Amino acid sequence: MSILIVGSLAFDDIETPFGRSDNTLGGSSTYIALSASYFTEKVQMVGVVGSDFEEKHFELLHSRNIDTKGVQKVEEGKTFRWAGRYHYDMNTRDTLDTQLNVFADFDPVVPHQYQNADFVCLGNIDPELQLKVLDQISKPKLVILDTMNFWIEGKPEELKKTLERVDIFILNDSEARLLSGDPNLVKSARIIRNMGPKTLIIKKGEHGALLFTDNGIFAAPAYPLESIFDPTGAGDTFAGGFIGHLARCESINDLEMRKAVLYGSSMASFCVEKFGTEKIAALDLLEIEDRYQSFLDLSRIDN
Ligand code: AMP
Repeated sequence: MSILIVGSLAFDDIETPFGRSDNTLGGSSTYIALSASYFTEKVQMVGVVGSDFEEKHFELLHSRNIDTKGVQKVEEGKTFRWAGRYHYDMNTRDTLDTQLNVFADFDPVVPHQYQNADFVCLGNIDPELQLKVLDQISKPKLVILDTMNFWIEGKPEELKKTLERVDIFILNDSEARLLSGDPNLVKSARIIRNMGPKTLIIKKGEHGALLFTDNGIFAAPAYPLESIFDPTGAGDTFAGGFIGHLARCESINDLEMRKAVLYGSSMASFCVEKFGTEKIAALDLLEIEDRYQSFLDLSRIDN
């Protein structure tokens, strides 16, 4: 199955209690695409970059077989930039700066080869742009959406309009509370699912993730790691692993969705072990499967 991903391609300045990394390749769609590329061969990106996006950055994506025909390069502009600082517990971060740059005037054009994409993953980006992309796909089998507080606060009405057309919505706990207006996550899930998406995933950072479907709730732990360097992109990497697993399934049901949550969590656990995309750009399938098995072992009780 093919996955079309729209989202940001970015340069990030990241500060954690363990160090800093400037001008690091990042962006929601970069993380999603790299992560999904371990599960399916047809990963297609739609986005925009500026003149500062170099050939080596494209090469990194191509080295994972990611199709970047849908990424426009605007020579007179600069790539999206984001700066963030993590606190000691790494679950909280401050956004220090967001510069939309070339995204401010971006009018996404989905190449005709992508218009029959099976899955559409609307990564964190302006919800109006997410909708514009969705309008150009003929009949996607599954639409997945990720967002963040920046858009929940900045464009709530546009986001709600986009949500009406989404099957699976992924967001984190504080974003769920913000969007629903309710502090309780189970109630939040009900309120948000009534906005459109039948399936909802609430990520809780180092405390795992909750999957809400018509058939109930599934709770997945996060992998207990001794060293967490940089949580940037963990949420997007989760989304990439999640959708990547679904893309290789014959049919999508609750069991596969639960497995997908664990594959997403496995990928996210790799992401945080190094700065930026360094770790998830160079994994092999065996270590992914190993981590997945460790996840199963985490809460298994044998008689
Ligand atoms: P995550 O840690 O999964 O929330 O994703 C972090 C990535 O999202 C970084 O690489 C940023 O470049 C990107 N990002 C941050 N803010 C935004 C935004 N407002 N719109 C799109 N992408 C963003």
